[in-house]
Amino acid sequence: MSSFRETVLEIDLNAVTHNFKVLKSKLQPETKILAVVKAFAYGSDAQVIAKHLQGLEIDYFAVAYVKEGIALREAGITKPILVLHCQPINFPLIIEHCLEPSLYSERILKEFITIADQKKQTDYPVHIKFNTGLNRLGFAVGTVNLISSYLKQTTSIRVASIFSHLAASEDDNEKPFTLKQIEDFKIASTNLRSLLDYKPFLHLCNTSGILNFPQAHFDMVRSGIGIYGFGNDNKFNSWFQPISTLKTCISQIHYLKAGDSLGYNRAYIANKETVTATLPIGHADGIHRSLGKGKGYVMINNKRAAIIGNVCMDMIMVDVTDIDCAEGDEVIIFDKTNSANLLAEKAESISYELITSISQRVKRTFIR
Ligand SMILES: *Cc1c(COP(=O)(O)O)cnc(C)c1O
Repeated sequence: MSSFRETVLEIDLNAVTHNFKVLKSKLQPETKILAVVKAFAYGSDAQVIAKHLQGLEIDYFAVAYVKEGIALREAGITKPILVLHCQPINFPLIIEHCLEPSLYSERILKEFITIADQKKQTDYPVHIKFNTGLNRLGFAVGTVNLISSYLKQTTSIRVASIFSHLAASEDDNEKPFTLKQIEDFKIASTNLRSLLDYKPFLHLCNTSGILNFPQAHFDMVRSGIGIYGFGNDNKFNSWFQPISTLKTCISQIHYLKAGDSLGYNRAYIANKETVTATLPIGHADGIHRSLGKGKGYVMINNKRAAIIGNVCMDMIMVDVTDIDCAEGDEVIIFDKTNSANLLAEKAESISYELITSISQRVKRTFIR
């Protein structure tokens, strides 16, 4: 044991390049790619990932909130940044940082025009979002005339794109629903375009949409999870490489006798002599409590060690009775082969939730 170890999330930028190329290979050459880098680039590092993608042929970025967009501008990102979910209170900041809002309702459209007028903008780029069935954010498909009446009264904004979001693009059983969303999006976007004297570009697909609905790529696609190495399906997962490895080390080993308990609430009681390892990572780092009590596991010297007892804030304990290991040894929580989606499944969760939960307390390192 030579090297000093602690909990780190190691991010492989070569894997980002690989995933980007896989996505690109699924598109027509002229189709643009938007990289979704919200939530710290799905729990990795938004600034580093966005800078890396800016060096590839990325066309657009998207974040959820204004604050995330400002952080990218401060890191030197110059490509357009779409803000998916803004609130009127942040509209002045949007304009000050050249961010592009998704306008998803009459209230938001009206308020943005007011601020853009106040700030004496002309043709400020905005994106009109339609609700085609997710019922989360977006104008109803039938409100095209209303939208165009607002647009005709102002020169302060200009519609850069029209978009919508799929509800179940990864689910083959929901294919008819997705096809209906695609049709409704075509109708809404065609109608809105016909009322404008210019042609905003169109986008609909997220990662699973890209992979499952090649007929619906339109002018641009939006990928998040694919860039980070997951395809929401066994076949597609094998094309991508998870970019992150979460690893830690053994702090201490304990030897329990039959009847001894382990951890808070004595949630684990040894029924025989048991060897446990305590690891410096807990729920405050993103190891959800639901992975405790034998549900989740980590890898130590290529063997599975179950997480036993309750997950603590800063620690977990794992069963190493049958594993040859010592204090200081490396522990893998997830990596390219022991992937985050497999671990997430043990807690009835998904890759998205596990990777975006890795808290800012965990040190990030990069392979370039
Ligand atoms: C998060 C998000 C995406 C990315 O979805 P993935 O499944 O991660 O590719 C795309 N579009 C919108 C509107 C989103 O909110």
